[in-house]
Amino acid sequence: MFDGVKQILGPDAATSHVDGTWINTRSVGAVIHSPVDGSALYEVLHAEADDVERALEGASKALRVWRHTERSTRSGLLLAVYRAIKAHKETLASVVTAETGKVLQEALAEVDYAASYFRWYADLLLRSTESVKLIENASRRLTVERQPIGVCYLITPWNFPLAMVARKLSAALAAGCSSIIKPSESTPLSAIALVRLLTKAGAMKGLVNLLLVDDPTSLTRQLLDSRRIDKVSFTGSTRVGRAIVAASAESLPRLSLELGGNAPFVVLADADLDQAVSQAMVAKFRNAGQACTAANRFIVHRSVSERFTQGLLKRMKSLVVGNGFASTTTMGAIASKAAVDRLEGLIDAERRQDTEILRAETQLPNSGTYVDPAIAFRVPFSSRLFRDEIFGPIAAIAEFGDEEEAIELANDTEAGLAAYVFSRSPDSLRRIGGKIEAGMIGLNTGAISSAEVPFGGIKMSGYGREGGEAGLDDYLNFKATTEPS
Ligand code: NAD
Repeated sequence: MFDGVKQILGPDAATSHVDGTWINTRSVGAVIHSPVDGSALYEVLHAEADDVERALEGASKALRVWRHTERSTRSGLLLAVYRAIKAHKETLASVVTAETGKVLQEALAEVDYAASYFRWYADLLLRSTESVKLIENASRRLTVERQPIGVCYLITPWNFPLAMVARKLSAALAAGCSSIIKPSESTPLSAIALVRLLTKAGAMKGLVNLLLVDDPTSLTRQLLDSRRIDKVSFTGSTRVGRAIVAASAESLPRLSLELGGNAPFVVLADADLDQAVSQAMVAKFRNAGQACTAANRFIVHRSVSERFTQGLLKRMKSLVVGNGFASTTTMGAIASKAAVDRLEGLIDAERRQDTEILRAETQLPNSGTYVDPAIAFRVPFSSRLFRDEIFGPIAAIAEFGDEEEAIELANDTEAGLAAYVFSRSPDSLRRIGGKIEAGMIGLNTGAISSAEVPFGGIKMSGYGREGGEAGLDDYLNFKATTEPS
C-alpha cells in the first residue's frame, strides 16, 4: 500500500536536508505512523543544534547568490519544480494519503494545488519584469526597489503537508529568498519528498533546507536567537501563532500568520438547497473536516433549516469512511486518537445540552483513527461547537430569522479566515458577503482557494497573504530612494 512512499523517499530513514546534504547520521528519531491503519511508515531522524547552525549558514550563503539571479532563472527553477511535481503526481499523493489519512482523490487534488503555486509564480516572474519602479515627481527622482526579504523560516501544519510548504516556498523562491522549512512532526514525509524533487530540479545548495525535530519550540528559539531569520511564515493554530509572535519579540523578523478559522456557512431562505447541500459536503467533509477553511458554523434560515439538515444528513449517510487508498472511500481518517477523542467529547457535550445529534451511522474500519460524521441540529449559539474550531466531521447547525441576525452571528467570532453565503439573489450575496468579516468568501461555492488570489485571514486568523501578487510582496522589502532630479 505504501510502496509509493518508498519510491520517492528512498528505503532509508527520513532525514533533514541541510546546506545541500541529507543528514542521515543522527541516532535519535521517531517513527511516523499512518492514521490510515496505524502502521509504521518511516523512521525520522531528528536534527541537532549544529545541523540548525549549518542550515542557517547554508541559507545565508545561498541567499547572497539567489537574490541576484535573473527573474528568468528563478522562473526556470519554479517551472522545473512544477513539472517534477506533476510528473510524480501519483507518488506524491500516496505520500500525502499515507501520512494524513486523507482520501487519495483529495491528495491528488492537493498535489495539483501545490504545483499550481510553482506554476503561477513562475509565470508571474516573466509577466511583471520590473523590480524597480520610478515615481513621477517634478523636483525629485523617486524610485522604489523590491528586494528579497532574506532567510525565511517556514513552519507548516499537518493537514495539508505538501500544499502548505508549496504555498510558502514557491513565493519565497520567486522573491529571491532562501528558506529553512519545519514541517509538522506528524507529517514530515511530503515535505521531504518535495525537497527531494527541488534538489533534483536544480535548486542550489543551501537554498532550501529542511529541519526535522521533535521540539519545535527550542528549534524556533535557536533560529530566532541567531538573529539571522528575516521572516517567519507560519501556518497552524492560533495558539501556536501567538507563541511565535511572543518568540519573535526580540529579533523582530517579518511575520506572516495563517491561523485557525471558524467559518460561517450562511444559507438564506431563497438559496438553491441542492447546491447549498452539495457545497456543504465539500466545505465540511473535505479532509474529514480538518481544514482551516472548513465550514464550522452552519447558519441557516429558519424556513429552510429542516430541509437543509435532512438533505445534508442524506448525503452524509452516503459517505464511505475508511482507508483513503481504497477507491470507494469518500472520507478518510482523523489525525490521531487524541483528535478522535476530542471530537467525540464535543458531540457528547452537545448531547448533554439536549441538542439533536444525527449520526451518519457509517461502518468504520477496525484499525486507524476514524469518526462517524455527525450533525448537531439547532445548536445554541453559546455552544463550544460554535465557539471553537471543530476541525472534524461534525456539522453544527443553528437557525436565524432575518438578514441582520445572520450577519451578526456570522461575525460573532474572533476568527476571520473564510466564510460562505448561499442565495439565489446576486444582490443578497454581494450585500451579505460584503458585511461578513473574513479574508475569503465563497458565494454559492464551498471551494475558495486558488494560486491567483491571496489566501489569508483577518482578526485572530492572522495576517499576511499567500498566493497572488500579495503573496510575493510578503517576501519582499520595498526600498525607497530619493535623489534630486
Ligand atoms: P499546530 O499549530 O499545532 O502546528 C503547526 C506547526 O507549528 C507544526 O509544524 C508544529 O510543529 C509547529 N509548532 C508547534 N509549536 C511550536 C512552537 N512553539 N514554535 C514553532 N512552531 C511550533 O497546528 P496543526 O495541528 O498542525 O494544524 C491545524 C491548525 O492549522 C488548525 O488550527 C488549522 O486551522 C490551521 N491551519 C491554518 C491554515 C491557514 O492557511 N490559515 C491552513 C491549514 C491549517
